[in-house]
Amino acid sequence: MDLVLFGPPGAGKGTQAVRLVENLGVPQISTGDLMRAERASGSELGKRFDDYMNKGQLVPDELVVELLTNRLKKDDAAKGAIFDGYPRTVPQAETLDQILSGLNRAVGRVVAIDVALDELIDRIVGRRVLVATGQVFHIRYNPPPAELADKVVQRKDDTEELVRKRYEEYLAKTKPILDFYAKRGLVREVNGVGDLSEVAQRIDAALA
Ligand code: AMP
Repeated sequence: MDLVLFGPPGAGKGTQAVRLVENLGVPQISTGDLMRAERASGSELGKRFDDYMNKGQLVPDELVVELLTNRLKKDDAAKGAIFDGYPRTVPQAETLDQILSGLNRAVGRVVAIDVALDELIDRIVGRRVLVATGQVFHIRYNPPPAELADKVVQRKDDTEELVRKRYEEYLAKTKPILDFYAKRGLVREVNGVGDLSEVAQRIDAALA
C-alpha cells in the first residue's frame, strides 16, 4: 500500500503516520524528517536545505527527489510507504508516480487531513519534539512527562511567523495536488480536529 497523508503543516500527518506504520506494516517517509537528518549530519546536501527551511519556503523539487529515491530503495519500503510531507508540488506528485510505476506500484489512496489555520498555529507553536526519537508533544494538549521535559525542543521553523509562511506555500503550491489526485478518485477528506483517536478512526474509515 502506498498512501499519501496530505494536509497543511500541523494537520497531524506525522502523528497519525506513526500509528499507521503499525497497522499497515509499511514505513513512514517524511521528507521533512529526512531533510532535518541530512542537515544534522552536516552534509553538503543538508546545507543546501538550510536557507529554504529557515524561511519556511519549500525546498526546490530537484533537491527533494534524490532524498526520496534513496529512501524508497531501502528494503523496508519494498511493499509500500506512508508519504508524509511529500509530494508538496504537482511536479513532485508526477515524480512520485514515475518512481512508483518503475516499481510496479502506484499511489492507492490520498487522505487529506483538514484543519483551519488558527488551530494549526496553536498546534505548531506549542509543538515540542524529542530529538532522540522524533516523538511529538504539545505543551498543553500532550505535555511531555517530567523526565523528558528538558529533552524536548521546539523546531526552529515552528514560530507563528514561519507557520503563516509555510501555510501560504501550502495554499499556493501544495493544495493544487488534490485536484491531480482527485481526477483519479484517490482523495478522501478527513476532519483533523478532535482528539487523536477520533481522527485516527476517521482515517481508518477513509482507508477501508
Ligand atoms: P515538515 O517537516 O514536513 O513540516 O517540513 C519542514 C520543511 O522542510 C518545509 O517547510 C520545507 O522547507 C521542507 N520540506 C519538507 N518536505 C518537503 C518537500 N516534499 N518539498 C519541499 N520542501 C520540503
